[in-house]
Amino acid sequence: ATPLSVTIGTGKGAQAGVLIRSAVALESLHSLKVLVLDKTGTITAGKPTVTDILPQNLDNDALALIASVEQNSEHPLAQAIVSKAQQSSAPLKKAEHFKAVAGQGVAATVDEHSVVVGNVTMLKNQHVNVEDEAAVDLFRQSRNLAAQGKTPVAAAIDGTLVAVMAIADAVKGDSKSAISELKKRGIDIYMITGDGSGTAESIAQQVGIEHVIAEVPPEGKAAKIRELQRNNAVVGMVGDGINDAPALAQANIGIAVGTGTDIAIESSDVTLMSGKLTGVVTAIDLSRATMRNIR
Ligand code: ADP
Ligand code: MG
Repeated sequence: ATPLSVTIGTGKGAQAGVLIRSAVALESLHSLKVLVLDKTGTITAGKPTVTDILPQNLDNDALALIASVEQNSEHPLAQAIVSKAQQSSAPLKKAEHFKAVAGQGVAATVDEHSVVVGNVTMLKNQHVNVEDEAAVDLFRQSRNLAAQGKTPVAAAIDGTLVAVMAIADAVKGDSKSAISELKKRGIDIYMITGDGSGTAESIAQQVGIEHVIAEVPPEGKAAKIRELQRNNAVVGMVGDGINDAPALAQANIGIAVGTGTDIAIESSDVTLMSGKLTGVVTAIDLSRATMRNIR
């Protein structure tokens, strides 16, 4: 495209809150074939809240121990659990020997109790018994919660599973319509997430996405982008988090949600200032118009 048409294109983008960082990015958007969307904070609002606690009569002491570990984590799921404990006036205590395992969960010692919070992999790795009758029953119920698009987070105290909390994160208002517009433009849409497949499939269904890549470890997102690039497809990635940054850099076009972390924005070619996915539709339409003008 000519320098003038690029300037016009990026200028119109900026007016619409879509910052396109380079001429190359504006030009390659018109040949975008595959678009990978992060789930949490990109398709959903990234403001999770605890909606269900199993068992329903979980006592406040147990909730306090669980939240005392999570108060040391920066994960959005952790913040949801801490808020829940505060609402229930469960007193938070000091946690010792805290450790966080990316993509799995957290563990610490509180009041001389060993506490583990996270997904099944985390619990298994920390030698929590996930096979006794009570545990099997809790996991069965947690699958129903995942089928509603909620993230089940399990918690164990001294090696015994004591609770599963369901954490819901609402889909952004424009996600479904943006995805439908992108599909109309012939783009294959994928969802990628570290979350479990039950939860991911449910959210994908709510917004009309057929291709779901779930349970991806934090360092695995970039490798998935590389796989999709194998047939020389032009692959875009939209994400907001620290663990999206390598995938945003690997993609032909990295698109950051402007309400996300700085690292994601710095790794990207395009920033959606409002955080809305409709911004991607705007960027593609601008690119197509820019490329038409030069032919
Ligand atoms: P996402 O792609 O949603 O950002 P992550 O890779 O951060 O997912 O985490 C994947 C999964 O690991 C979460 O769905 C959750 O089950 C578990 N997990 C990670 N961190 C925590 C935490 N601090 N507390 C509880 N569970 C966690
Ligand atoms: Mg995210």
